[in-house]
Amino acid sequence: MLDAIKKAFTSNEEHQPSGKKGDISREKSAELYAKAQQYFPGGVNSPVRAFKSVYGTPLFIERGDGCFLWDADGNKFIDFCCSWGPLILGHNHPKIREKVSKALEKGLSFGAPTALENELAELILKNNKCIEKIRFVSSGTEAVMSAIRLARGYTGRDKIIKFEGCYHGHSDSLLVKAGSGLVTFGETSSAGVPQSFADETIVIPLDDTKAVETAFAQFDGQIAAIIIEGVPANNGLLIQEPAYIQFLRDITRKHRALLIFDEVITGFRLGFEGAAAYYGIQPDIITYGKIIGGGMPVGAYGASSELMGHISPDGGVYQAGTLSGNPVAMAAGIAQLSELKSSSFYKSLHTKSNEFVEAIRRYTAAKNYKLKLFSVGSIFWFAFTDKEQIRAASDIDHHSMEYYKAFHRELLNRGIYFGPSGYEVGFVSAAHTKVELEKAKRAIFESLDEVFRHKS
Ligand SMILES: *Cc1c(COP(=O)(O)O)cnc(C)c1O
Repeated sequence: MLDAIKKAFTSNEEHQPSGKKGDISREKSAELYAKAQQYFPGGVNSPVRAFKSVYGTPLFIERGDGCFLWDADGNKFIDFCCSWGPLILGHNHPKIREKVSKALEKGLSFGAPTALENELAELILKNNKCIEKIRFVSSGTEAVMSAIRLARGYTGRDKIIKFEGCYHGHSDSLLVKAGSGLVTFGETSSAGVPQSFADETIVIPLDDTKAVETAFAQFDGQIAAIIIEGVPANNGLLIQEPAYIQFLRDITRKHRALLIFDEVITGFRLGFEGAAAYYGIQPDIITYGKIIGGGMPVGAYGASSELMGHISPDGGVYQAGTLSGNPVAMAAGIAQLSELKSSSFYKSLHTKSNEFVEAIRRYTAAKNYKLKLFSVGSIFWFAFTDKEQIRAASDIDHHSMEYYKAFHRELLNRGIYFGPSGYEVGFVSAAHTKVELEKAKRAIFESLDEVFRHKS
């Protein structure tokens, strides 16, 4: 997503027609894309979808089932993008479809409470020790924006700390990138975000305790919260040391600032209780999105009853939504999360993911390819690098994205669908069977052989 923002404003690159021998047919997709360009900026409703960082025009998707996607030209893919994370059960899951159909029959929206909201809340809160109350919204962006407002309202402070390389949706205070220097006020990373908003956001590098200490020293008593992704997974996969997360917990407590885990990706992904339980660290506020809605637009934020008591109408922090807690979306969330409750669900998903990732690691090591596969649970990321660890955004070599670009094209040609940017992670879902993962591995090996034959 961060890459998408950068590219949306910097890319002047023309789309190459996919003329290479063996390239899949994209005629119908190209036709649809031409039309879409008349209607939408860049032909899309979210920038990364425009394929600016990979070859060819975007694929228009016709349908999905299990771990498969079909595009408008009838090409079939094994999908590792999974709608950017929400589809942990795969596409078109029968139980979600059934529950959604039932809800559909009763009407699409009432703007009044329904039992379905209670049902989803109960499912979450009864199985999550980290939060006591929750508020449903309609996207991850909205969840994070509201969590920030809560933190500011609760502490009476304005400044927040975010990390370079973490994405938290597209709200104003979070569309901010690092300026120069170790601890800086952010610079806006989008036109239209006032510098005065960015001035309330301090952007610092990940994996750097000094920078956090300096920020608290410099802005003593002004910092409302630190926000960090459960595991930063929007700008590569920047896996942090548990000790670093614990340090963030300790220093926020010490300065009476809040710690916000943005678990829009990691929530219900690393486990039912997400990264908080994975680290065994209790944040003050947690945000959710993606998986929570089973493929429908749902976000949420949760905290202790005391903190959530500051949200309106109980408290003075205003936050609302016409379609919040939408019954059809709640139904999808209930159906999906119900399947995730058992501990064996994550055990088998993680084992399967690990075997898949390990096999690719063994292959690339044997071939001596300049490639590392970083992974946690069912999230993985191909990094075309020699580095053993990548913990900070600045450790990513931007030139290495050329490898990803070639890799992505080879993968599509072999029926494997990944996100159209080398900064994006891949996801294994419960619908990826051993047979498909075996096929995917072969296609990945062949694609890598092809990439490194030409590049090295
Ligand atoms: C996707 C994402 C968001 C934004 O969610 P949207 O539903 O796209 O608005 C926020 N934070 C994180 C960590 C995300 O991965």
